[in-house]
Amino acid sequence: MDAWICVTCGSQFTPSSTPPSECPICRDQRQYIGLEGQKWTTIASMQADGFHNVLKEQEPHLTGIGTVPSFAIGQRALLLQTEHGNVLWDCISLLDDETVAAVQQLGGIKAIAISHPHFYSSMVEWATRFDAQIFLHEADRQWVMRPSEHITFWSDETLPLMDNITLLRLGGHFSGSTVLYWPDGAEGKGVLLTGDTITVVPDRNWVSFMCSYPNLIPLPSSEIRRIRDAIAPYHFDRIYGGWFDRVVSTDAKNAVLRSADRYIRAQEQRLSD
Ligand SMILES: [Zn+2]
Ligand SMILES: [Zn+2]
Repeated sequence: MDAWICVTCGSQFTPSSTPPSECPICRDQRQYIGLEGQKWTTIASMQADGFHNVLKEQEPHLTGIGTVPSFAIGQRALLLQTEHGNVLWDCISLLDDETVAAVQQLGGIKAIAISHPHFYSSMVEWATRFDAQIFLHEADRQWVMRPSEHITFWSDETLPLMDNITLLRLGGHFSGSTVLYWPDGAEGKGVLLTGDTITVVPDRNWVSFMCSYPNLIPLPSSEIRRIRDAIAPYHFDRIYGGWFDRVVSTDAKNAVLRSADRYIRAQEQRLSD
């Protein structure tokens, strides 16, 4: 029995003797089946193919963990260290002994929180190895491909985790799309870890919000307005998006507000043309 991993989105499935027939996450309009059709791998095959993980400190108490060469969607996870245990924000498909040892040296993992189903990846593998609890928003329950007793579903709009760290459900990209608010980050000016709930675009003074990024499906302006109003009460200066190079290093709250306004203006102009 192998825990098969979808090569396109990186999701790991409940172990089975043959690969699943298809990946529901990639069948969804927000993702896609790769050009060569549905393909599967396993952690052991990834290791044999030369994939490994790298750890890079992003700022004090925050370390990025990503796979080299890039695999599936290519996101990196973030390990946030606190006095009451560490939080892994988002997750990746590959977990090997070297990564386990490196993360143990940083204090292990107490809780795993994930922005949305595209980054669920091998979350159960990570939770099992570190005896961690996974927190997912219940609105995205249907996208869990490997159910586990490690998973706790939360509801409502906010979940205090530990040490002032709070999960905020913003929705949009997925109904349960979440960001992590870390007010002590960026020398106390506040940090948001956003995955692609709020995505940092190549011009890193700006962000965007989409239903589908690969298929370029926009969200309605009413949704952007709702997301902007939901994040407006929080103070933050920096955003770490879902990839190593996607960071708004300063003035991030203004970047979110002006990006939301730009998006709304673009949609409403189009409607009035
Ligand atoms: Zn998939
Ligand atoms: Zn996504």
